[in-house]
Amino acid sequence: MIQLDSKVPSGHISEKWTNHKFNMKLVNPANKRKFDVIIVGTGLAGASAAATLGELGYKVKAFTYHDSSRRAHSIAAQGGINAAKNYQNDGDSVYRLFYDTIKGGDFRSREANTYRLAEVSNNIIDQCVAQGVPFAREYGGTLANRSFGGAQVSRTFYARGETGQQLLLGAYSSLNRQIKLGNVEIYHRREMLEVVIVDGKAKGITVRNLLTGEIESYAAQAVILATGGYSNVYFLSTSAMLCNATAAWRAHKTGALFANPCYTQIHPTCLPVHGEGQSKLVLMSESLRNDGRVWVSKKVNDQRPPNEIPEDERDYYLERRYPSFGNLAPRDVSSRSAKYVCDEGRGINGGKAVYLDFADAIKRLGEHVVKEKYGNLFEMYENIMDENPYKVPMKIYPAPHYTMGGLWVDYNLMSNIPGLFVAGEANFSDHGANRLGASALMQGLADGYFVIPYTIGNYFGSEKPTKVDVNGSEFKQSEEKIKENTNKLLSINGKQTVDEIHKKLGHLLIDKVGMSRDDAGLKKVIKDIADLREEFWQDVKVVGKGEELNQTLERAGRVADFLELGELMAVDALNRDESCGAHFREEHQTEDGEAIRNDKDYAYVAAWEFEEAGKWKLHKEELEFESVELATRSYK
Ligand SMILES: Cc1cc2nc3c(=O)[nH]c(=O)nc-3n(C[C@H](O)[C@H](O)[C@H](O)COP(=O)(O)OP(=O)(O)OC[C@H]3O[C@@H](n4cnc5c(N)ncnc54)[C@H](O)[C@@H]3O)c2cc1C
Repeated sequence: MIQLDSKVPSGHISEKWTNHKFNMKLVNPANKRKFDVIIVGTGLAGASAAATLGELGYKVKAFTYHDSSRRAHSIAAQGGINAAKNYQNDGDSVYRLFYDTIKGGDFRSREANTYRLAEVSNNIIDQCVAQGVPFAREYGGTLANRSFGGAQVSRTFYARGETGQQLLLGAYSSLNRQIKLGNVEIYHRREMLEVVIVDGKAKGITVRNLLTGEIESYAAQAVILATGGYSNVYFLSTSAMLCNATAAWRAHKTGALFANPCYTQIHPTCLPVHGEGQSKLVLMSESLRNDGRVWVSKKVNDQRPPNEIPEDERDYYLERRYPSFGNLAPRDVSSRSAKYVCDEGRGINGGKAVYLDFADAIKRLGEHVVKEKYGNLFEMYENIMDENPYKVPMKIYPAPHYTMGGLWVDYNLMSNIPGLFVAGEANFSDHGANRLGASALMQGLADGYFVIPYTIGNYFGSEKPTKVDVNGSEFKQSEEKIKENTNKLLSINGKQTVDEIHKKLGHLLIDKVGMSRDDAGLKKVIKDIADLREEFWQDVKVVGKGEELNQTLERAGRVADFLELGELMAVDALNRDESCGAHFREEHQTEDGEAIRNDKDYAYVAAWEFEEAGKWKLHKEELEFESVELATRSYK
């Protein structure tokens, strides 16, 4: 019987983490080297955890399916990372960052975790600067920052439009130092397919060597999953094409609870979909909304080019609907607004796109300033769209981007399986029903540099560093399970490609579990996805063999998992009969289309236990708010 315990420490919110750190057990330096830790994932969360745990003296094994840890999807992050430094004296503080984040998530996150995130945000910037991360600076040498959605202060630190890459290079250098010192062993091109549980605790993993197809097992006294999010469940998303949910999903099927799967973020500033042949969507960073103005024509099906639509016939709908936040309204609100105007037929040429216009900014600041701030993003836009955004407004539309749901963890970032920790986008922890821009990098690095290094020590403090036998029956069973699954996939020999089925799943999800959801649509899509899962297992074609490099086989395993996860997203969305953050139920909205939350019945984390394919049991973690009052979220 699973008992959810968030393990939130007592005391005032501003003292919880400090007191908890003091009260936690410590492992003495000589004993640390007796503990082995497995970390799956070398993105910002995994690389920062591996580097820090190595530095502390633990013996770390880090795994990634990439050919270099540097290729993790974190590298794609463009816009920036939040921290409450308050350099501008514009009213920022740890409390304000906490409050903005909890309000941004529509009061559906765990207060204590969100506060801790804001609290360590400043340490992250110091750590990264010390590593040499080249953040943008002002003329006098101080770090520059800019505004992002959902905030009225300027707190986003950035390195041009490649912040993720620069932060990852910082973490990667620290990781490499530990590899050289022998504290971290790195395993590239390995895909984790099972978590191995021995006597009720996570004690290892089983992986497929993607180059040879061999199944290998690795043992440790704790396992950390830092395997990223699941936006690619939608097929088209802004995530790198390799991103998938397999590690988290297999852990879920081994007993880890999956929390709030229906909280998925559809980002407002992406390039519109071009056609059925497309395999990926492109993000235009939210930072562009600092200076770009979003608009559509007031007329339905207006076919005029933008420069022929006079000012008084334009609808700057974000500025009109949300005068205080304007173009910097948070993502869920901005995306839904774009959908509304396009559903009314007022999108560009009556289609699914809106303008992001820099004409005013160029007039006010000069083209050279706009170029300095966003040059590489403008270049990227022109390369893809073949239009010069300095002259013609950009065309944008919302696209799946980030997932707030993930494996359930307690305050220590440990799942309900003892010894299994989850960090970064893979956990559900800090963002509630909607993540604010520039807060994912902050969370990944908070988890890896500043939270898990303490909490894993606390866990080891009550564990004996007994070596785990990698030849034990639990490891053999998990190897057999993987081989059976591989043989099953290879023996179907159907007619449809893996991508064809994945695309069908994507269409079902974006249509019924996308920017808006309703009872009838969700009931139907649950059945449709279950049918599609059957279709997959009857009719997919997976070519090649198991004992070789086989990318079709890799993708088939991941899509099989997405088909189950997609169904759970719909089940969760149906269960949550309220609108909150990015989860918008048509039945619960005000007259002018704003979300109506139901705090009485739904102020809980929905944590799902896997029973069998298509069947889950719901556990609820009631959310308790000691420091903030549950207010109606307004950006007007
Ligand atoms: C285009 C884009 C731009 C973004 N810009 C910003 C931004 O400006 N600011 C911000 O805060 N956030 C941004 N985000 C979000 C942010 O980048 C991610 O949330 C964050 O980088 C995730 O980091 P992570 O370490 O949790 O996971 P990832 O970086 O996705 O790393 C996952 C790691 O896990 C490994 N892995 C996964 N599964 C397995 C497996 N089964 N076996 C072995 N290895 C596995 C992968 O190889 C990889 O190393 C952006 C996202 C996108 C898509």
